[in-house]
Amino acid sequence: MKVLFVAAEVAPYVKTGGLADVAAALPQALQHAGHEVRVVMPRYRELRERGVPMSGPVAASFLPIGERAEEQRVWRSLESDVPVYFLDIPAAFERQAIYGEPDDHRRFILFCRGVMDTIQHLREVEGWSPDVVHAHDWHAALVVNYIKTFYHYTFGHMATVYTIHNLAYQGQVHPDTLALAGLSEGGLVENGMGYGLANTFNCMARGILYADVVTTVSPTYAREIMTMAYGERLDGLLRHRADRVRGILNGIDTTVFDPATDRHLAAPYTVEDMAGKAACKAALQQRCGLAVDPARPLLGVVSRLVEQKGLDLLHAVLPGLLRETNAQVVVLGSGQPYLQEAFLRHGEAHGDRVSVKIGFDVALAQQIYAGSDALLMPSRFEPCGLGQLIALRYGTVPIVRATGGLADTVREGLDGNGFVFHPHDARHFAEAIGRALACYRDPIGWAAVRDRGMREDHSWASAAVQYAAVYQWARRLIGH
Ligand code: ADP
Repeated sequence: MKVLFVAAEVAPYVKTGGLADVAAALPQALQHAGHEVRVVMPRYRELRERGVPMSGPVAASFLPIGERAEEQRVWRSLESDVPVYFLDIPAAFERQAIYGEPDDHRRFILFCRGVMDTIQHLREVEGWSPDVVHAHDWHAALVVNYIKTFYHYTFGHMATVYTIHNLAYQGQVHPDTLALAGLSEGGLVENGMGYGLANTFNCMARGILYADVVTTVSPTYAREIMTMAYGERLDGLLRHRADRVRGILNGIDTTVFDPATDRHLAAPYTVEDMAGKAACKAALQQRCGLAVDPARPLLGVVSRLVEQKGLDLLHAVLPGLLRETNAQVVVLGSGQPYLQEAFLRHGEAHGDRVSVKIGFDVALAQQIYAGSDALLMPSRFEPCGLGQLIALRYGTVPIVRATGGLADTVREGLDGNGFVFHPHDARHFAEAIGRALACYRDPIGWAAVRDRGMREDHSWASAAVQYAAVYQWARRLIGH
């Protein structure tokens, strides 16, 4: 099948979170399985400044936005197995930020308009027409909307799949913005009336409503988002489309995330020969200014510091953890200022036990995955989570809250690969850490948990098979 991916971030070009990893690795896995994949993403200023090699422009057009039109030029990647098209829309992407601008809705309306022109270009000039358009998260959702309404006559034969990576970010703005997008309230108000969607313009909701198939990134999250507790006010709409919703667990790129070859590590290691992991732990302790001591349990965090990730629980349990155990803690992350400050204060007060680095640092992240004994993920909700999958591969035992993809990948018990708690509160988190530290004191028991995790296969191959089946299904749904 020919599949066009549409995403706002794609690694290694631009990455702020898990979406970038998925949008990079899944196309490769699909291509490996014999499908033909191309990817479209914005050409952010950062890409131009870094001099990412690309050819072009291969196409140029003007994109309507309300009463105006903005210029777009399309560039094509040079050095990737899967062709990537970069939409260069200066009005939208010629600025420092990736997201979080006051006019994000306008920027990504332009992006989706640009994608439609690019589909046209691919067909007319390059002779390539997708069987399936696979749009990711709210930034790309209007592509599905356009295919099913505005462009139905021209592109209606293309099946559409929409993937929710995080339901919390919906791209919801004032309904006046509809005019900018050239869309009408149309089906959404009709069908969405009962779901609190009248009088808003919600990109995520439009993706969910119009796509032939909606997927999300773990089976548990697919069930959770149909409940009020996790549905972010779209649970009604999701229940309405329940027979079209599937959960497919993300994989990780096991060639990138491999402790045997990771060039960021002090020493390589494998499940058969773990000596290198001890060297990684010592190097991490040293780099972070902690006492270099192989016997002390080292707990790592690599995370956005936002409400979702539940790290306020770590803030709450840290004093007790430092008082009652000999554990060390390394935190790498950035996000909400109050959390950053809270962790920095812990670091200042206990410099030899707690190390805090605020920022986004790919090399240090890998060193934490490799050098820690356990990784903490006390998430409130977690669509899939990549951290625990990387940790498992690096022989770092995940301690997680049972939600979303964490519930689907981490098990505690006789054949466990980690430690799991259920109610989202400090007591249950502290107890889970307590059980992990008790296990850590028994080297044979700990090695058994750790090695089981390391031997699991979380590569993209199995997800690619499931996505291919979803694409076939979406095509059958529209009569192919
Ligand atoms: P989310 O997409 O919600 O942030 P995921 O667990 O799905 O969470 O993916 C997060 C990805 O970003 C992982 O690959 C993780 O290692 C990486 N990451 C998160 N924070 C940082 C950071 N401060 N520095 C480097 N990498 C980070």
